[in-house]
Amino acid sequence: MLSLYSALLAQHPRQLTPVRCAEPTIVQLQRYFEDVVLENNLAALVVESMLPEPQRSLRDIARVRAVSRSARHAFFFVSPDDALNSAALGDDSQGSEPILVKRSAQGDADERFVVIADARFSALLASVRQRDEDGAESGGDEVIWSFEPDIVYSALEYLMARVKAEIPTHAHLFSRAVRTCVPKTTSLQLTVSVTTKLARLLQEQAVREIAVNRIATAIRSSLELPSVLQTTVNEVGLALGAQYSALSVEGEHGQPSLTTCYFRDGDGGEELYTELLSDLEAYGVRLRGRMKTYVHDGTMGAVGADGRPVAVVPVIYHERTMGVLMITSDDPQRLWQDNEIMLMRTVADQVAVAVNHARLFQQMQHQALTDGLTGCFNRRFFEIQLERDLHLATRMRQPVSLILLDVDHFKRVNDSHGHDAGDAALRLLANALREEVRGVDTAARYGGEEFAIILPQAGEEGALVVAERLRSRIERTEVPGVGCITASIGVASFPQHASSRELLVTTADRALYQAKRTGRNRVCSPADLPQDELPYTPPTPDATAAQGFDDLCGEAPFSPEAQEAVHPPNL
Ligand code: GH3
Ligand code: MG
Ligand code: MG
Repeated sequence: MLSLYSALLAQHPRQLTPVRCAEPTIVQLQRYFEDVVLENNLAALVVESMLPEPQRSLRDIARVRAVSRSARHAFFFVSPDDALNSAALGDDSQGSEPILVKRSAQGDADERFVVIADARFSALLASVRQRDEDGAESGGDEVIWSFEPDIVYSALEYLMARVKAEIPTHAHLFSRAVRTCVPKTTSLQLTVSVTTKLARLLQEQAVREIAVNRIATAIRSSLELPSVLQTTVNEVGLALGAQYSALSVEGEHGQPSLTTCYFRDGDGGEELYTELLSDLEAYGVRLRGRMKTYVHDGTMGAVGADGRPVAVVPVIYHERTMGVLMITSDDPQRLWQDNEIMLMRTVADQVAVAVNHARLFQQMQHQALTDGLTGCFNRRFFEIQLERDLHLATRMRQPVSLILLDVDHFKRVNDSHGHDAGDAALRLLANALREEVRGVDTAARYGGEEFAIILPQAGEEGALVVAERLRSRIERTEVPGVGCITASIGVASFPQHASSRELLVTTADRALYQAKRTGRNRVCSPADLPQDELPYTPPTPDATAAQGFDDLCGEAPFSPEAQEAVHPPNL
């Protein structure tokens, strides 16, 4: 059997235009149609079909009762397993009990409609739940509606034929009801009352869809979590007219949570912020493991301090609550609509995916730029960072120094104590390097048992001090099962010794080999190299530092990529 939706579309293709709506919006539209009957006490014929529900809320049942009480005749098409079958729906002695028309189990259970026929108002709304190829529910359904008495009459004729064919016992009752409630021209006032609500609802839906799209775009175009989360709370707050909205996502590996907030009227001051954080935390604890939404509607009475309307949805990933999205209203009578909660759930789902993508990306970036054995940056990152630091140094007219370090006789360590002991020594050495350098410095594994340290804003003198400190620390560090190791170190500075990245590395390397040649476990700089081994022409003693920069870097020694170099991750 065709659904009412399909039958009407086939019969009146030019007068009906399907509109795509989210399911909660269709539920709301159906309620608006019922509202006309309820608010105007229309003694109309009301025929409805709802999607099957094995359990129905008291709110749903009360609604069916109210419609049945008000209507002259009320018919509800229900599936055999629908909870309405066993609910007490009205008082038959007053003729207010609706007639339940049981659809066969094979009948089209996925259709939803409401048809209202009366001398003052006739209208219909119909939709069918769309499913994708796998039979799963799709994101939204198409819905049609009309206030044309002709179309409403077509709908009733079609339903009459259907009742006659499927449930002949009800056929007589149904056609008698249709005869007593023939749809006539609809009162303009009633039509306007419902169309105004429809227009507002659809506009609200459009605003929500735009918000969801913006959030989806932010998630697609950025892997920077704080900015994605900020866009999310801003858009949700704006779309739902919140006083404030907030989102908290737990940190990784014991790190503190990431929290972002939106305030409609400015940031609201420290007090509000503290209150909001404690609310977020409390709801986070409350929802953890429950995966349920918490909705607190406003009330008609006065609102206490903690009685503010609030809706909170958990951010769930792989069946684990990883955060909460909260929205608060300062309208004491604010009721949270189903479609608003659905928007929050959709957004929370997107956030969960975004957080995991961003973390995966961070992890991959980390793996791509660090060395697995020592946890230091790798050679690739070293090259990028050196280029970047040199570019910055040129602009700021500041020096950069490079330290190259090579473990002495490391082959012997491996040979005498085994490769594992050698690995342990490299890890210990790397830890020592990281502890000795400043936050702006970069310690990287240059290859094998060689390490490189970039020291931004440090000239030769400062770099020699750091290098000597490193040398002495390594010499004093006891490697378990190995004993003490030593390292030879070469130092070179930009722009004093080199005008380009390549020259700086070559100069530091030559200094390092000078340290090896002259006995190991020592620090050398270009000053220790014989004149003919210097890879550059030393500046004349009277050249000023500024001239040095101009002479050495005036020709833009760095590649254009360096100028665009991405910020390295904070590893
Ligand atoms: P020199 O003082 O001249 O630098 O002597 P060396 O033995 O350190 O120099 P050489 O270049 O001959 O040997 C470097 C050794 O470092 C050889 C290699 O087995 C070892 N090596 C390189 N990478 C690793 C690593 O990841 N783990 C271990 N255990 N050994 C490594
Ligand atoms: Mg080596
Ligand atoms: Mg070595």
